Amino acid sequence: MVYWHIPRWLKPVYPQVVWDERQSGSQVVHLTFDDGPTPFVTQSVLEMLECYRAKATFFCLGRNVERYPEIAREIQLRGHALGNHTYSHLKGWKVTDQEYYHDIEIADHLMQSGLFRPPYGQIRRRQARELSRHYKVVLWEVMSHDYERRISWERSLKSVLRYTEPGSILVFHDSVKAWPKLEWMLPRVLEHFSAKGYSFHRIEAP
Ligand SMILES: [Zn+2]
Repeated sequence: MVYWHIPRWLKPVYPQVVWDERQSGSQVVHLTFDDGPTPFVTQSVLEMLECYRAKATFFCLGRNVERYPEIAREIQLRGHALGNHTYSHLKGWKVTDQEYYHDIEIADHLMQSGLFRPPYGQIRRRQARELSRHYKVVLWEVMSHDYERRISWERSLKSVLRYTEPGSILVFHDSVKAWPKLEWMLPRVLEHFSAKGYSFHRIEAP
């Protein structure tokens, strides 16, 4: 079973978490990119976004920001948002709360963002409650499966176009693993929604 769209029943289970950003009547989608910054890949994504005057949100790993601070700066200089995605891509279900918060704090020293996205979308309810005191905890509505080699490029693209609604938050990855599919898919997503009159906004920190 491949999940493209977050099941509706899940949203009320995690009331502290943001799944979408509906603005009444406005044709807006929110593109997000996880796991960067990655040399070449992130910069190529930035170029594609520029072509469509699209703003997006990059949920960065602290360890990558530490290695490539100039790319993280470039993301912000171009008007996109940075979000905390932990320092070392921890699973919230697998580590103690202490370890989890500590890892997020290290990443926070490197990027000071009011946005947080849990790696793998895995977060305990009490972690979500605690973190939502300091961050806007952002999950997503539509998953592109761009990193997933068993799912064809066409199927990923078709599903993203089909499930996206005004206000949806979409997930992509600016990683080496996802790049072959992303390079093909992202311009098509941008083209499709631009032609329909949508604009692409970053997610604002609280
Ligand atoms: Zn991730």
